[in-house]
Amino acid sequence: MATQKKPNVLFVLSVDTEEEWDWQTEFPQYNVQVENIQAIKTFQQECNYIGIRPTYFVDYPVVNNSKSAQVLKSIAEEEQCEIGAHLHPWCNPPMTEENDEFFSHVVNLPIELVEQKLVNLLGLLRSTFGKEIASFRTGRWGINAEIMNLLIKHDIKVDSSVYPFYSNNYFSCEGAPIEPYWPDLSDPLKAQYQQSSIYEIPVSVGFNHTQFALFNKIHKLSSTPLLSFLRAPGILWQLKLLRKIYLSPELASAKDMQTLIKVLLKRKSPIIHMNLHSSSLINLPYSNHPFTQQQILENMKKTISFLQEHANVTFCTISEAKKLLTQSEVTQ
Ligand SMILES: [Zn+2]
Repeated sequence: MATQKKPNVLFVLSVDTEEEWDWQTEFPQYNVQVENIQAIKTFQQECNYIGIRPTYFVDYPVVNNSKSAQVLKSIAEEEQCEIGAHLHPWCNPPMTEENDEFFSHVVNLPIELVEQKLVNLLGLLRSTFGKEIASFRTGRWGINAEIMNLLIKHDIKVDSSVYPFYSNNYFSCEGAPIEPYWPDLSDPLKAQYQQSSIYEIPVSVGFNHTQFALFNKIHKLSSTPLLSFLRAPGILWQLKLLRKIYLSPELASAKDMQTLIKVLLKRKSPIIHMNLHSSSLINLPYSNHPFTQQQILENMKKTISFLQEHANVTFCTISEAKKLLTQSEVTQ
């Protein structure tokens, strides 16, 4: 039987490692719950079994709690993961801003306040783990030039705050590259090759067609008021004509993620970047997702075994991915 040569691809799993709460209620500031972190012990064993080297983007309440910090410390000491930083402004001191929707987005905070929060977060992470903390993701996504430059100042080498094809009232990631890139420091949603201080590795998002840009236009058009009144996005989804798929086992079924992976491999993507939230590792009384904790794990495992069938996979952390991708850039 003739076997087609499988492509080589990197696989990164990033986990927003944070408190659990009901997103329908206000943002928790003090006495936050971090029970979900205990579930990382078994989750990491599953990852070890498959070969995954997770990147845990850890936020302030998690590292500030000795019990939860200990769980991550023992995994980090075994070199089975990478610890990165995750900034939730509402529960990261100093909390001087209003606790509301607007200020929950890092891009809306005065840069001096972002810096104070970042210094507190990185200081505690670095002293707790005794390791270099070189990767970062904003809470609720989104980045701008000021924040990107601030990250460089504080020795962050990889950012992962870009959520391709996503926009809300406060920021837009529309038009950002979907593959890893050196961001333009005056406009981090654009790639340029003049700087090598910080690298951007977005999460994998795409469509069930290889021409992402074109299908993003159609998707956006179908979401305009008139067409969305006609339920165009839903109809297109049902007909499988157009699906925007997030590579997150919380948001997408294994089948949809497999479709996205097929498309990404066809597009010769060098990396597949899946992401989830640590709070998905336990079943919560309030539901943030359409899937249970067990289904989320199943979605993840099925998707990864599909990927392994179709590609030669190198599992790595986000900083390892940066190293591998930028090395090959030089040798090309
Ligand atoms: Zn978060």
